[in-house]
Amino acid sequence: MKSFHPTVRTLMGPGPSDVYPRVLDALARPTIGHLDPQFIVMMNEVKEMLQYAFQTTNELTFPVSAPGSAGMECCFANMVEPGDKIIVCSNGVFGIRMKENVTRCGGIAVMVEDTWGEAVDINKLEQALKDNDDAVIVAFVHAETSTGAISDAKALVALAHEHDCLTIVDAVTSLGGSELRVDDWNIDAIYSGTQKCLSCVPGLSPVSFNKAAQDKISNRESAVQSWFLDLNLVMGYWGQNTTRSYHHTAPVNSLYALHESLVLLQEEGLENSWKRHDENHQALKAGLEALGLSYVVHEDDRLPQLNTVTIPEGVDEAEVRKRLLNEFNLEIGAGLGALAGKVWRIGLMGYASRKENVILCLSALEAVLGDMNANINKGVALDAAMVAWS
Ligand SMILES: *Cc1c(COP(=O)(O)O)cnc(C)c1O
Repeated sequence: MKSFHPTVRTLMGPGPSDVYPRVLDALARPTIGHLDPQFIVMMNEVKEMLQYAFQTTNELTFPVSAPGSAGMECCFANMVEPGDKIIVCSNGVFGIRMKENVTRCGGIAVMVEDTWGEAVDINKLEQALKDNDDAVIVAFVHAETSTGAISDAKALVALAHEHDCLTIVDAVTSLGGSELRVDDWNIDAIYSGTQKCLSCVPGLSPVSFNKAAQDKISNRESAVQSWFLDLNLVMGYWGQNTTRSYHHTAPVNSLYALHESLVLLQEEGLENSWKRHDENHQALKAGLEALGLSYVVHEDDRLPQLNTVTIPEGVDEAEVRKRLLNEFNLEIGAGLGALAGKVWRIGLMGYASRKENVILCLSALEAVLGDMNANINKGVALDAAMVAWS
């Protein structure tokens, strides 16, 4: 065996996204003890910067030491007690995973199903809340990465609260890329990931819980089934006024990386980051549509950081992705679940949301599709993108 040296790729799929060079540098800094006073200062800064990213003053805000799926599990394992009725709005892959979490925690999942590619329908949620007045939590995905649709988190949370339900929100793909205001929108429990619009390495999951969520957790009759994710135990390590007792060994260097990506987010400004994601999406969209591809999601519900587009007639979509990777070092995503084989998912997340990536993607796609004799419009995509930016 020899050392492993991966090729440098441009990551424009559904995650992980391109990692900031400064974040990769931070990873290589010396490992110190996870109870070292210097490390504890850094942990507090990570918490503070996550509060900024989430737009919250929630004390219980920290990164779970595992990927976004573990943040999901952390929210459900702590918030759901056996017998609890949970309304899950599902419009893609991650809504289905929420249901799995509910039932494995002993909860009863009431599903509100929406068509893949559409936002969560607030009227259907309202009907479900009326039909199930014993429900205690509403859960939904803010930005559905499997389809590229964004839902109106503010309105869904407000409606849930009118019916005395708490809320669990998946913000894995929205955090840092789309407007998200945990306190203003009154979100009770939320989880995200580091490898999408934060452009950090995969493997950490920022979470945040407000007072109402904490009360639900501390009033539990049964212990949280997961030892690792039990917030009562984790807070002995991540809590504010604790003496930081050992719970698990934090992924020290990954946390340096998260710290650096959050410094980058602060330097840019959260709202500027949302704006950049939108502007580069507009340019990519103009170019893809000029090529002749069309969007699956209606314009009003489109996620700027995840562009789901149709594949030209008769084109072997897997072959296109393979050629983009092998000939241009460019990764784009395939369709997932109900959309498998029918669409491409092109990500513009975090550091990957840059002008040069938009141009690379449009020109490489045009070159490969042209070479495969696909029915596309040649020579117009780059101009369309430039017009969108100007
Ligand atoms: C990526 C993603 C997850 C899972 O995150 P991992 O880091 O892959 O575990 C959950 N929800 C959504 C909406 C995602 O896009």
